[in-house]
Amino acid sequence: ELAAWQRPLRAQFPIIQAQPDLVYLDSAATSQKPQAVLDAVHTYLTTSNANAGRGSYPWANTTTAMVEEARDRIRRFLGDPEPERSSVHFTSGATEGLRTVARDWLPALLADGDEIVVPFADHEANLSPWLEARELLARQGVRITVRELPYQASSGDYDPAALAALTGPRTRFVAATHVHHVHGVDMNVHRIREVVGPEVPICLDAAQSIGHLPLSTAELDVDFVVFSGHKTLALPGTGAVWARERRGPAFRPGGWDGTPNTAGIASLTAALDWLDAAGTDRIERWTTALTARLTDGLSRLPAYDVIGCRASLAADSQVQRRCSLVTFRHREIPPHELGFILFSHGFMVRSDGHCQAGAGVKDASVRVSLHVYNTPEEVEGLLTALANLQ
Ligand code: PMP
Repeated sequence: ELAAWQRPLRAQFPIIQAQPDLVYLDSAATSQKPQAVLDAVHTYLTTSNANAGRGSYPWANTTTAMVEEARDRIRRFLGDPEPERSSVHFTSGATEGLRTVARDWLPALLADGDEIVVPFADHEANLSPWLEARELLARQGVRITVRELPYQASSGDYDPAALAALTGPRTRFVAATHVHHVHGVDMNVHRIREVVGPEVPICLDAAQSIGHLPLSTAELDVDFVVFSGHKTLALPGTGAVWARERRGPAFRPGGWDGTPNTAGIASLTAALDWLDAAGTDRIERWTTALTARLTDGLSRLPAYDVIGCRASLAADSQVQRRCSLVTFRHREIPPHELGFILFSHGFMVRSDGHCQAGAGVKDASVRVSLHVYNTPEEVEGLLTALANLQ
């Protein structure tokens, strides 16, 4: 039943149709784009391209309205419970989004002696902005403490008991990641709100979850959602920060007074329309099943070590689902070499340290990441190629 749902969706990605011998397995870096997204960009640029927020002729008005509609589209996509009390800021991706929150919003929240809790082993983009904010504040005589959001060794997600132990009255902010970009684990961020109580702002890096699974800001009760549009089927150079104006100062980014990426914003609206029509719940079932097959297949090949939590490797265990990506090493072939070999068979994977905070050269690995357009045949083909390299 899901296969019949997926086939026509895959057919809507021109790059895949045009190059059937290649298999794209790097969607965690950036996604491919369906025809509807390309059409939306073409339509925008050929009917009403103008600057936003300026001018009073029809193209300018249409562009301004299109940008405002995109903000509403994002609010709806995120299940925003109070759209009149949230703001949406467009960025070039998740990195710029997290940096904007850290630079333009966080300092106003913090006083001397306050503490923030952030992840130390997620994407570098979700660590360095918070450390930079600490340095900036220190130069102004405001000393803040940055604590590590604790992980559970066995399952790889965040550890609520350890978080409770380090949370106190001076805890003012928590940054977290929804789905980990190296081991693909759902970090169970809903537990953070239960631990820190109702007053502490939470910023969620949703770069690897948005478009891959349903995301409800009402359910998660977070204050910021940061994501990449380009990983969400929209154009390169797109992303957004959604901010709920409830805890802490209002989010007024200083960043964007110039000309916005209007074509990119048009593509983002079209991408979210496409994803909603396809159904993020079905996309989640599809890619989670493919990832489970891949993880299971890999764990049966003795030459490979799957990276991340042990718990997810148990065949009977649903403890940790991997959402759409899995990372591994060959015991003898270095990751870069394995990447080249796989490409000689047509498989495009990523092999490096994946911008993980604290990762060194020795931490390089191969990451296979999937999206709605990938198929069971591609996964089986990859497993066969890997098995032949043992
Ligand atoms: N956070 C996570 C979890 C990511 O996976 C990525 C992209 N690899 C980023 C942030 C940075 O996203 P962008 O490329 O849009 O800046």
